[in-house]
Amino acid sequence: MNYYSLNKQAPNTSFKNAVIKGLAPDKGLYFPESISPLPKVFFENIESLSHAEIAFETIKQFVSPDIPEDVLKQIVTETLAFEFPVISFNENISTLELFHGPTMAFKDVGARFMARCLGYFNKENTEEITVLVATSGDTGGAVANGFLGVKGVKVVILYPSGKVSDIQEKQLTTLGQNITALEVDGTFDDCQNMVKNAFLDKALTNHMQLTSANSINVARWLPQLFYFIFAYRQLKRKYKDIVFSVPSGNFGNVCAGMMAQQLGLPVAHFIASNNENNVVTEYLKSQLYNPKPSIQTISNAMDVGDPSNFIRIQNIYKNNFESLEQNLSSYSFSDIQTKAAMKEIYNTYNYVADPHGAVGYLGAKSYLESHPEAHCVFLETAHPTKFLDVVEEVIPEKQGLPTQIEAVMGKVKVSIKVKNYEGLKRYLLK
Ligand SMILES: *Cc1c(COP(=O)(O)O)cnc(C)c1O
Repeated sequence: MNYYSLNKQAPNTSFKNAVIKGLAPDKGLYFPESISPLPKVFFENIESLSHAEIAFETIKQFVSPDIPEDVLKQIVTETLAFEFPVISFNENISTLELFHGPTMAFKDVGARFMARCLGYFNKENTEEITVLVATSGDTGGAVANGFLGVKGVKVVILYPSGKVSDIQEKQLTTLGQNITALEVDGTFDDCQNMVKNAFLDKALTNHMQLTSANSINVARWLPQLFYFIFAYRQLKRKYKDIVFSVPSGNFGNVCAGMMAQQLGLPVAHFIASNNENNVVTEYLKSQLYNPKPSIQTISNAMDVGDPSNFIRIQNIYKNNFESLEQNLSSYSFSDIQTKAAMKEIYNTYNYVADPHGAVGYLGAKSYLESHPEAHCVFLETAHPTKFLDVVEEVIPEKQGLPTQIEAVMGKVKVSIKVKNYEGLKRYLLK
């Protein structure tokens, strides 16, 4: 499969090159040249396939011929070595738990898949690749864990000092080996700008191969389409109109769901559930896309003021507002509403949701008001104990720590303090 740049000012390129470059030379996001739907029987017989088999069949066209089939089988098998359970609350609402991976947020799958692709592409170790990534919390840990020990790949994570949770900080600063954490004196937006500057800085790019592990990278973004098919596999016999409510920040996850739909997955509708960072909710009301500086909320992984993958979504619907609107609804909720939802989920269904999942639950409820026949699956994108402060404030029950989290708690944080872009550059050129 070849990929083109959505800015249309750069040549088309292979999967391998798109993964190694991250962004196209014209700074556009890469998008596959074509999408071939899978035969209907694939979805009819899906219960007979394992997760790895589903992943292999659905991602094959996007990575071939750069990754041979036997290597791809191994990559998806290793990537998906944990569970993706669906828990049904009632006839209308289920949740798909995406937090059973090593860092307990849904980003593990994309990070593990991308790490293995890069490891394969660089197995001869011809040129070291440096993965630069800015994180507001979850991406850093998933990327650190996914890329740990991958030969020929060095990972540099920038995170805002004092603005990630204790657990998130431990997950990204305690691994060592090929992973370095830079603790930035600033906000997440500052970290993201430093990364963007680095990609534009010839003094760096002439010296080293830099790539990104944010969802702009096709190898991080595309494997997220598996989730929607896994949920369908578990629910198809019970419900007809399956709707996904996706807690959204950069809109990579919901856009991957739309790719699954393009492959033929029967999905009735998508809901992008937002916190008060509601650029897309507003867009669907007014057709005006107005990026804004991000606002800090309790669902911090969705504090994004200019979602990078929205352009991919518009491309899927050929920039036609009506077809987008038919497939996507969006709602926005405050922190107060989110906390009330966490309480409601706990009291009504005896389930502890994290703040991001709770926003997804609220989106599902809003949609059900006008579509009572639908079955809405909200994505639980992180384990509640990653947001212990909020969860313990709202839910009157001590939360036990899962083994993945306990394992990092006792480790010693190692980070390098960086004040500004010059500091990052000095570190990279050293
Ligand atoms: C990253 C993240 C999101 C947002 O996902 P996007 O693909 O950026 O829309 C939601 N919830 C959690 C817990 C996350 O880590």
